[in-house]
Amino acid sequence: MTNRAEVVVDLEAIAHNVATLRKNSGTPLMAVVKADAYGHGLVPVALAAMNAGAQWLGVALLEEALTLREAGMSAPILSWLVPPGSDFQRAIQADIDLAVPSIGIFKEIQRAATAIGKSARIHIEVDTGMTRGGFLDEWDQFLELLSNGHKDVEIIGFFSHFARADEPGEIQNAQQLKRFFEMSDDLNRIGIEPNVHHLSNSAATIADASAHFDVVRTGIAMYGLSPDVGNMGNSQSLGLKPAMTLRAKIHLVKKVMAGIPVGYGATQKTKADTRIGVIAMGYADGIPRVAHNAGVFVEGRRAPIIGRVSMDQFVVDLGADSVSVAGDWVTVFGPGENGEYSADDWASASSTINYEIVTRIGPRVPRIYKLTTK
Ligand SMILES: *Cc1c(COP(=O)(O)O)cnc(C)c1O
Repeated sequence: MTNRAEVVVDLEAIAHNVATLRKNSGTPLMAVVKADAYGHGLVPVALAAMNAGAQWLGVALLEEALTLREAGMSAPILSWLVPPGSDFQRAIQADIDLAVPSIGIFKEIQRAATAIGKSARIHIEVDTGMTRGGFLDEWDQFLELLSNGHKDVEIIGFFSHFARADEPGEIQNAQQLKRFFEMSDDLNRIGIEPNVHHLSNSAATIADASAHFDVVRTGIAMYGLSPDVGNMGNSQSLGLKPAMTLRAKIHLVKKVMAGIPVGYGATQKTKADTRIGVIAMGYADGIPRVAHNAGVFVEGRRAPIIGRVSMDQFVVDLGADSVSVAGDWVTVFGPGENGEYSADDWASASSTINYEIVTRIGPRVPRIYKLTTK
């Protein structure tokens, strides 16, 4: 079988980014590999990150954590989105660290630990101002519960998450940090002092040393992308190497005349006699249908999308002098160093963020790993 599109993941770029983030932050790294490692492939990226010196793995779902264990990864793994009713016994058996954002989940975990006769490892998650995960209204009640003991539950960590770390200097960051200290003090007062405090995502890892604590949870920057190009600069200025290149095959090339409509809804017409290329990827594969001013890189230049993106294909204007033929590969996006579009370009062309561009590439697109940068 021959691929019509593929994600090429540069594992050396991942290693470079891990090393860079470790060196610049001077803090142990938790490699955040949720969502199939932001679309780059869970296990290969986790292995590359650990080999490059990361010390923890962080995921959202329990399934992700268990997949890492089944792949033989022995590092501590934190899973922070394990809903009530999950197989907590299995999680504890597999030595997965679990985030606890509520009394209900704490009690379920405790029951599971007691049932199997093995201590659970938990990280208490507190809401310091993001107003999403973590303890808020139940905090005092939880403190009271804990002050009466926490049989079968080992409290390993204490953590929270920033809402606006990608806007360094924003007052909410300082407020969240202050609240983090206050809530940590609350725990200390009842005699609980977890070893591992963590608060920073990529943006705070890069921009706010006061929030590093014992481990930083780096996701997007490990993949070589900036948490916010506008506020923090692009990959290159941050010393990061984008790890993902998306390539696709030209399925068909044809000559067309000026002034003819292209695609569903006839939203665009050819401006001149030209050659169009049909690219074998579409919105079902994660190409944003809303993208404007994006396209592909071929023959050393950019060929813009013309007409609407379809489910499995889209059309680009190759130019009248194009020598591309069916079966040639084009770069949809890459690091951006050689003139190709970057994930940042596709994000701004689609009014979204680079996170969404890389995570949305669908499972029909195989991931290919390369170990050396050219
Ligand atoms: C996704 C996530 C991260 C990583 O965020 P980046 O901005 O990609 O570095 C860190 N912590 C938590 C709780 C997350 O959900």
